[in-house]
Amino acid sequence: MRPSILDPLFAPATTLAGVGPKLGKLLDKFLGDESHDARVIDLLFHLPSGAIDRRPSESIAEAPIGEIATFAARVSEHRPPPPTKAKAPYRILVEDETGDVTLVFFHADVRHLLQTLPVGAYRLISGKLELWDGMRQMVHPDRVLDPKLAASLPSIEPVYRLTEGVGGRIMARIVAGAAERCPDLPEWQDEGFLAKAGFPAFRPAMQALHHPPDLKAVEGDTVARRRVGYDELLASQIALALVRRQQKKMAGRVTAGDGALRRAIEAALPFKLTDGQRKAVADIHDDMEKPERMLRLLQGDVGSGKTVVALMAMAAAAEAKRQSVLMAPTEILARQHAERLAPLAEKAGLKLALLTGREKGAGRRQVLAGLAGGEIDIVVGTHALFQEGVDFHDLALAVVDEQHRFGVHQRLLLGAKGEAVDVLVMTATPIPRTLALTWFGDMDVSILSEKPAGRKPIATKAISSERYDEVVGAVGRAIEAGAQVYWVCPLVQESDTLDVAAAQQRFEALQEEFGAKVGLLHGQMPGRDKDAAMAAFVAGETRLLVSTTVIEVGVDVPNASVMVIEHAERFGLAQLHQLRGRIGRGSAASTCLLLYKGPLGPVAEARLTIMRETEDGFRIAEEDLRLRGEGEVLGTKQSGSPDWRIARPEVDGDLLAAARDDARLLIERDPNLETPRGQAIRTLLYLFERDVAIRLLRAG
Ligand code: ADP
Ligand code: MG
Repeated sequence: MRPSILDPLFAPATTLAGVGPKLGKLLDKFLGDESHDARVIDLLFHLPSGAIDRRPSESIAEAPIGEIATFAARVSEHRPPPPTKAKAPYRILVEDETGDVTLVFFHADVRHLLQTLPVGAYRLISGKLELWDGMRQMVHPDRVLDPKLAASLPSIEPVYRLTEGVGGRIMARIVAGAAERCPDLPEWQDEGFLAKAGFPAFRPAMQALHHPPDLKAVEGDTVARRRVGYDELLASQIALALVRRQQKKMAGRVTAGDGALRRAIEAALPFKLTDGQRKAVADIHDDMEKPERMLRLLQGDVGSGKTVVALMAMAAAAEAKRQSVLMAPTEILARQHAERLAPLAEKAGLKLALLTGREKGAGRRQVLAGLAGGEIDIVVGTHALFQEGVDFHDLALAVVDEQHRFGVHQRLLLGAKGEAVDVLVMTATPIPRTLALTWFGDMDVSILSEKPAGRKPIATKAISSERYDEVVGAVGRAIEAGAQVYWVCPLVQESDTLDVAAAQQRFEALQEEFGAKVGLLHGQMPGRDKDAAMAAFVAGETRLLVSTTVIEVGVDVPNASVMVIEHAERFGLAQLHQLRGRIGRGSAASTCLLLYKGPLGPVAEARLTIMRETEDGFRIAEEDLRLRGEGEVLGTKQSGSPDWRIARPEVDGDLLAAARDDARLLIERDPNLETPRGQAIRTLLYLFERDVAIRLLRAG
């Protein structure tokens, strides 16, 4: 149970003053996720992304031009627009003995201005000061205050990342309210360590983060951010240590097959396994045969053929008369896997079923019964499958596809499952070793370093979007020649709705050109329509598929050999690589057209250049690391649920090492978290929502 001292933080955001149902909804969309609405803690951990310096200047003459300026002045004159030009702005002149500033208001609420800026009054004014025809002016000041209230204007004002419908001042007010709620918590850090590091206690640290003492504090590495970052790292390291201990304690089972089913599947494959695939299958089988639990990472670039390795592993489990589950990160991918694998499984006499949130009614009950009864050998689904407590007759193996899409939380759940299930995690993201340790704990790794034979290189070109008509012409010719084309529409500022609108629009435009050959796929379509769109493209009924980035992960249509990516400059390198990995899978030569809208910034230009130069996922990941930073390489930014709320493992390497050591020692000395510090650590685990790990304390 969560300690009640944390209740105020885990209350819904709507319990904060001034957050009604309407604002609450906007916040839910912004900071909540499938499992919960926005809570006070989500706002508390919503740290400033910048700050504005509102320290007052001595006089108007000394106020900086071209930046935010704050100064005291007397209101000397109102200048309403002439009656003939009612649309012209309303101007107010303010001055001190060193100079004057014209305040400019468009669509002015005159009554309000007369009230807040009456002639003769002194006011503290803050906003962006500019020179216009040699005169100082300020369009729509941010703040106008009676100097007596000057104390209420923080001299360094935090700025927060915003969402549609929630403006800066409102966000700042709500977050300040959340920071107010932060209770004094029992200290979970070692006092000696705190003193040595010069770290403040948790509550003062949170206050300092939301009330930055100076501009540098916001980006800079303050003790406050490092303190809370360390808290988070420690929470995750303790959770991982508990999971690891649990895994060690829990003997695995020997799952030994005779190879018959694997041979049958291999015989049914239309191709020969690569040496890498063969080696990975052997590694996995060796692990499964051991009495310990398997925890293996299968790493291989997009298109390297991980899925068939998974199938072989699942067949090995079936040889021992045990069941397997394959979890995909999206519904589309789960369906695709099921469709691809079912015929192969069938040839080997295996029963494969699909189970996602969308299988309902009798069909669902039948699958559940088949799993409980043991008639189904392999079930493919989304991660929801694991959370809903599906009963298995005898589960031996869980395969998690495209791991980087899963959060730490799910990973812990998986580890906490309790059964002696062997786990195989598959990822296309090359992960630096040090980072892999913090994310996955001690995992064994198999790597598919070669691509299947016969792949042709993908010709990648960057083309200005001004040449759209030419691109459409080329796409038309490719379709005539029998190719299939993906047309990927841009990300519009993390907004699903806008993404969809852009895709819809492009769909309509291309439909005018190519008629019924064009299909549409995006995340907001009803599931059935998504299936139909995907199926039509797979069957070749549609030749051009307009889509949002929903196709990014895993989709496999070998006949598709052309990809157009609009606004390629908006995508990250890893994402471009993942997208492009959808083509170049068949025997035809493939082309990827990166449409960009100039002028390009240096980073965007570098990305497009790298994409043109190489298809090597490892090289791309390295370059990405250089251009962006490790957290984003792992795709956490794109999945919308960052694993880290405050910590930055890529800059806090020293803290990470300290947290690992600290966690190990702590678990050794206080294995059940029962000492006073252990109790406080429990609170810490709840605070950073690593509390699934707490269940392991008793279980062991
Ligand atoms: P990823 O590693 O990206 O998940 P997939 O498993 O989707 O890759 O495989 C990509 C494509 O390559 C699929 O069409 C698959 O059938 C094919 N493939 C897999 N292994 C081989 C192989 N050894 N030879 C030829 N084609 C293969
Ligand atoms: Mg895949």
